[in-house]
Amino acid sequence: MQALPPSSTANWQLWLLPRFTLLLFVVAVIGLLAYLRNSGREEARLVLINDVLWIEQNLHFQFEQTEERLASLLNAAREGNLDDVTFQTRAHLISEANSAIVGVHLLSGSRVYHRGEAMPATGLDDARKLAHANGKANYSDVLGHDGRIGIVMQGQGHEIAALISLPRLLSTQVPWWFANKYRLAVIDARSQEVASKSHVAADEEGLSYELDFDPPGHGLRLQVTAYSSPTGIVQKGLVAGVIVLALIVLFSWWRLQAQVQGRLSAELALREEYAFRTAMENSLSVGMRARDLQGKMIYVNPAFCRMVGYSAEELIGSMPPYPYWNPDDIAHHRALNETVLAGLAPQDGYEFTLRHRDGHLVITRVYTSPLIDATGKQSGWMSSVLDITAQKAAEAREHEQEEKLRQTGRLIAMGEMASTLAHELNQPLMAMSTYAGAARQFASQGEAGMLDSTLNKIAEQALRAAGVVRRIREFVRKHAPHREPCDLNTIALDALELLDSDAHARDVRIRRDLAEDMPQIQADRVLLGQVMVNLLRNAVDACSEQPPERRDVLLQTRYQADTVQLTVYDRGHGITPASGDRLFEAFYTTKPLGMGIGLNICRSIIEQHHGQLGYENLPEGGTAFHLSLPR
Ligand code: ADP
Repeated sequence: MQALPPSSTANWQLWLLPRFTLLLFVVAVIGLLAYLRNSGREEARLVLINDVLWIEQNLHFQFEQTEERLASLLNAAREGNLDDVTFQTRAHLISEANSAIVGVHLLSGSRVYHRGEAMPATGLDDARKLAHANGKANYSDVLGHDGRIGIVMQGQGHEIAALISLPRLLSTQVPWWFANKYRLAVIDARSQEVASKSHVAADEEGLSYELDFDPPGHGLRLQVTAYSSPTGIVQKGLVAGVIVLALIVLFSWWRLQAQVQGRLSAELALREEYAFRTAMENSLSVGMRARDLQGKMIYVNPAFCRMVGYSAEELIGSMPPYPYWNPDDIAHHRALNETVLAGLAPQDGYEFTLRHRDGHLVITRVYTSPLIDATGKQSGWMSSVLDITAQKAAEAREHEQEEKLRQTGRLIAMGEMASTLAHELNQPLMAMSTYAGAARQFASQGEAGMLDSTLNKIAEQALRAAGVVRRIREFVRKHAPHREPCDLNTIALDALELLDSDAHARDVRIRRDLAEDMPQIQADRVLLGQVMVNLLRNAVDACSEQPPERRDVLLQTRYQADTVQLTVYDRGHGITPASGDRLFEAFYTTKPLGMGIGLNICRSIIEQHHGQLGYENLPEGGTAFHLSLPR
């Protein structure tokens, strides 16, 4: 497996440089925006002040001209060459020159001349007093709610007053271009708007400038507020564009960073996974090997290298025949290899004997499954290879030992059965001897009929003896355990027959209670027969010293859904707790002539058949040995 490149987290440039550049970019954008805003505002402010001063001068000029014209009219009155027609004409000219003049009022001695709106009764007193004192033109405070102010001049008992409409002044004297750029308003000392002019809606955000409106004074001020100019709008648009672009850059950076972060996390996870897999592969005792579809070796783990004695470099890239194939068995290996590459390897694995580099043979069990790549396609075959050499050797040893045990058991049992044999054979032989004497007698007497029947009996007894010999031969003959379907009842009856005469001789009764329709089991009938003979013999032994009524043995068979059972009951001396613990040990015996090997062999035979053998002491005295075998 290839090593992963060093972690990119160590590459500080990748992290620090973009962050630093981004920070600089944001600072530069903010600085540029602030600069543009300030310089724009400053420029607009200068233009605004210039324009305000210009309009203020313009209005000032208007007031001065009005004052001059009123003074000229007052002089005419003072010189006495003024009649009503002249007044009306000159007053009309004054209103013409300044349409903000909405009323003119002249007081000349006892005569009163009047044109336009009437002068209000109050509000002009202060201006009159000042005019009387200084002889100049003086202005009143704002009169009423319609933005009118008065102008008063006096001289030698004559007085001229004019009523000026400030809204009209603004509407006539403020040019259109000014009104397009600014909102112009006259506000009084209480900040109430007296008059205003504007062509567009007010813009609260705009720049504003105020200056005293003098004349006429009395706390009146001119207030000019700038509207957003188209250039300002363009500028704002540009600024907004820059902000949007900056936000997009930030967003892109954020997304990029999230993506990079995701990749880094994935890389870290991959690294952990890789380290975990490497540790796992190194710790495995199972060999792993992967081959492509053509059989080229593409991966081996350390356990496999140890198993075959070749390094990964030597194995990877190799094609059949692989270096670990046994040269004596190449044809078999090749055939097996072709089966595996064709996808026909057995699901539950197959045995394969490979040759280690140093020459020793390694027996393995190989499990193969398809190797699927990231796109879901099969790219080869992955095999796990288990070294089962030790297991095989252990199995062989165990088998050998079992065989030896069985053999020993038979020999011992044969020895134990020597006395039984003597009995078994003695009876027919004695009978034959008796029948032979009788036959000789019948022959000498010429009783052919009796002779014939006696000879038949001799033949019967000879057959009986031959049967005994045959059974004993079968019993002691060495043969491999041979499992075949057999019936527990039949085996039990054979065992009984073998023991019958011995039991009879010792006055022990053997009863039988055999289940009907016993199912067949897979077993070695000779070995099971040996177990039953042993159990029955022990039971007969345990009873033989008992009073006659307790010399009773019962052989019972039963079956359940999944087991068949056999129990040997006796009414003998029972088993003490001390001997109970050691009963199944080899060579444990309480009998003077016993070998103590019978039960030990019985148990190993039953366990070989996956069954169980146990005993219990019966409440009424005596013992029961239970044997159960799976069906
Ligand atoms: P052996 O019969 O040669 O003694 P076994 O292994 O068959 O060897 O039996 C071991 C011992 O178990 C016997 O010596 C005896 O003490 C005890 N034993 C076996 N079967 C019975 C039984 N049915 N009743 C009482 N004791 C028994």
